[in-house]
Amino acid sequence: MKVYKIDYLVQKDVVLKDAFLEVGKDGKIIGIQKEYNGDYEHLRGLVLPGFQNAHSHCFQYAMAGMAELHSTTNEPDDFWSWRDSMYKIALQISPEQLESVAMMLYSEMLRMGYTEVAEFHYLHHDKDGKTYSNLSEMGERLMSAAQKTGIKITLIPIFYQKGGFGKEAAEGQRRFLSSDSENYLKLVDASRKSAEKFSKAKVVKGIHSLRAVDEKGLQNVLNTKEKDLPLHIHISEQLKEVEECKSFYGARPVQWLLDNFEVDSNYHLVHATHLAESEIQGIANSGANVVLCPSTEGNLGDGIFPLRAFQEMGGKWSIGTDSHIGLQFMEELRLLDYGQRLISHKRNTFYSKQQGNPGFYGLSQAICNGRKAMGVQSSNFFEIGHDFDAVVVDMVHPLLFMSNPELKLATNLYSMDQTSIKEVYVAGERVITNGMHHQMDAIWMDFAKTLKELSFRA
Ligand SMILES: [Zn+2]
Repeated sequence: MKVYKIDYLVQKDVVLKDAFLEVGKDGKIIGIQKEYNGDYEHLRGLVLPGFQNAHSHCFQYAMAGMAELHSTTNEPDDFWSWRDSMYKIALQISPEQLESVAMMLYSEMLRMGYTEVAEFHYLHHDKDGKTYSNLSEMGERLMSAAQKTGIKITLIPIFYQKGGFGKEAAEGQRRFLSSDSENYLKLVDASRKSAEKFSKAKVVKGIHSLRAVDEKGLQNVLNTKEKDLPLHIHISEQLKEVEECKSFYGARPVQWLLDNFEVDSNYHLVHATHLAESEIQGIANSGANVVLCPSTEGNLGDGIFPLRAFQEMGGKWSIGTDSHIGLQFMEELRLLDYGQRLISHKRNTFYSKQQGNPGFYGLSQAICNGRKAMGVQSSNFFEIGHDFDAVVVDMVHPLLFMSNPELKLATNLYSMDQTSIKEVYVAGERVITNGMHHQMDAIWMDFAKTLKELSFRA
């Protein structure tokens, strides 16, 4: 057993001063108390629960920033042109190179305070679109990188079948495809077998989007959904996708999903940017969660999620960094809030009927619903019997140091960045010390070699 004395321990709606937290050999929290007479390690600073990254496409990290050089001819550059560049990169990466990129990305996520990632993984096959002899080769590389860097991973092998509503897949999508739901379920089984090799990995199901699968495939996967396990799906990210869904299915994507399936609190709808009023209410009523990716949605010009209406209806959301153009957790929360302020001309946009402190509100939504996205049910911070996953924020910041305990969280949210993160713990193990990952040099060298091989960014 190990005991930590913590200067400021962030709970769901209060900050405890000078708490003693006991962690067992298995990395799980045994108790939290006010007094302790014995040896302890002192964690100096503000200690937050580990952040959850509920939506990641690992390989896209290698191209983050590369699609930012725009033509001066005023040609349209939007999600669809960005997607063409992304496909080019997806077609080149080998399993070894994917693992190398994942090592870099996941060590960076840990440095930013994420202790768990949901990997929305559709890069399944080799460069010619043929299956690897190990069906889950690419997913296994992601889980291996997570294990080696120390982050927990929920691998979501994605069912991807079509090139659009009623359209065959394009040549550039060949690495992503399962011919039908039976083949997809074989991939899930193979991924689960691979996951047995790793202590920090689990596997759940996901569907790329309504446009990427046919109706029969969708029914086969959704109607056999495992009870109590999360299911992830991209939905209503693009206006064009909404219009195409209306012509193909006769309804908007979210409405059609709600009308045709038993959508419940295990569903994690990624983006859900473009919603009619009835769809906002429909998601909130179903108990489904929305995964918001503010920096990627902003970068791609997707649109702004109607958070204010959704939260007033008791809607639940979490945060993902998607294409990884931004990786800072607090920045994602700030962008989300500021988007709402900018369109509503109000400042009080980030709160619930129960919680008026945006620090507590944002953190509890992103963390508790983020855990649900990984299949973990825990609605408190630092809960007894759960892993000690923690982020230690340095108190050597003039505003943070001078704030009262409750104001510390809002100060951290609105006026600080990741450089304030000093240490990160995953299941009781320290993986970030003095703001650095313990294998940083080796990971960097390997990542540089990989990008050179791929001739990226030269
Ligand atoms: Zn995505």
